[in-house]
Amino acid sequence: MNSLEIKNFGIMGYPVGHSLSPQMYKAAFTAAGFVNYNYIPLQVHAGKLFMAVEAIKGLDFRGVNVTIPHKTTIAKYLDAIDADALVIGAVNTVVNDGGMLTGYNTDVSGFLAALAEANFLPEDCHAVMLGAGGAARAVLWGLCKRRAEFVAIGARNPQKAQALANDFLSYGNVEGFDWLSDEFKEMLQTADILINTTPLGMFPEVDDMPPVELKLLPEGALVYDIIYNPVETKLLRTAKELGYPTLDGLSMLLLQGREAYRLYTGELPDMKIMEKTLKKFLSTK
Ligand code: NAP
Repeated sequence: MNSLEIKNFGIMGYPVGHSLSPQMYKAAFTAAGFVNYNYIPLQVHAGKLFMAVEAIKGLDFRGVNVTIPHKTTIAKYLDAIDADALVIGAVNTVVNDGGMLTGYNTDVSGFLAALAEANFLPEDCHAVMLGAGGAARAVLWGLCKRRAEFVAIGARNPQKAQALANDFLSYGNVEGFDWLSDEFKEMLQTADILINTTPLGMFPEVDDMPPVELKLLPEGALVYDIIYNPVETKLLRTAKELGYPTLDGLSMLLLQGREAYRLYTGELPDMKIMEKTLKKFLSTK
């Protein structure tokens, strides 16, 4: 690619001012010599999404990241949806190939790449997930893709946990639970990994954590919190104190960004620059 070429990128959401994506991608573009690549926060109200998607083409944006509340609704305005995004039911990245818009979900590859970096093999594992929202769908699809033997979803609302499980029954052995029930506690006792996909413990409510008895987990079970702000949540701190290995949400955030960058440019970004930038801005939040 010609590094002097002008290309536009952005993140569409509402609100969008808190997003760290502009800093992260701009730092990576600059490091790669793409000095004329712009990355803009695009505040898009729910009722204006169709016009905003048309503007991706009209203004010749090469791509946009997509965040709350548009991840599900944007699909109907796109020309094609990648297989992962179809299963998850959410798009977080749109690539514009000469007016043809394709939606992707890079959370799943970010999640799986983070597990790989932590040397955790999901194949045949017993996994316990907390939460049944949007991020849970990407995490669950990642676990099913890699053929986890069993996935227990625990949530404060067991109907939502079971509804999520039902959506994935054709992909794996998945069941929903009330996370306070004795049945769920039994699931913890044989888990190889526990993954928090709820926002409990996220800034500014940093003293919160999901109501799970971590000490029920077998020795050596990985405790993974996909929250990245703060990087070390109360859940992870507690797990460390009990002697469990832990994984924070920063690597998933970075690695889903790496995948989006690859889709946009065909190249891989400088991950060290992206990480340094994210950490710098996270520490100011
Ligand atoms: P979401 O769609 O709103 O889902 C949140 C889930 O957590 C739902 O199951 C919700 O239950 C549950 N929940 C929320 N507040 C709760 C509370 N006070 N007590 C018990 N359960 C509660 O959110 P999301 O998009 O999945 O995001 C969840 C978290 O993942 C956020 O912290 C986000 O920053 C993080 N995330 C990280 C990455 C990364 O790259 N590291 C990527 C995506 C998301 P109800 O349905 O009952 O409300």
